[in-house]
Amino acid sequence: MRPKLARLKDNAWTIFSQYIRTRDKKCFTCNGSPDNAGHFFHNCLDFDEENIHAQCVRCNKWLSGNLAIYSVNLLKLLGQKKFELLNIRHYQDMVAQKRDEEYYEKIIKKYKRKIALLEQSLV
Ligand SMILES: [Zn+2]
Repeated sequence: MRPKLARLKDNAWTIFSQYIRTRDKKCFTCNGSPDNAGHFFHNCLDFDEENIHAQCVRCNKWLSGNLAIYSVNLLKLLGQKKFELLNIRHYQDMVAQKRDEEYYEKIIKKYKRKIALLEQSLV
């Protein structure tokens, strides 16, 4: 069995990814099906709602995020100021302290609640 921290991280990602795909409903870079939750900045900001958007498998995997279109759409969505703040956050996150169990448990709890709220608003 995998260590508890790794399992919590996987679980947090599963929940967060479900939230993102429910929120976006379509691929952020081609309007295709929302199969994955795809990063703008990779290997950081894994649970940042502005860094992660729904993507189809083609854009996320085969086109490695389709980042040229991703950046244009993200700048349009966030505006210049928030886009720059996201950039700063990604540098900060790369040197952030190691995540503990509590960090992932909070994410799981937060996004289970947000999914429930989203689903309520869709009814
Ligand atoms: Zn796509």
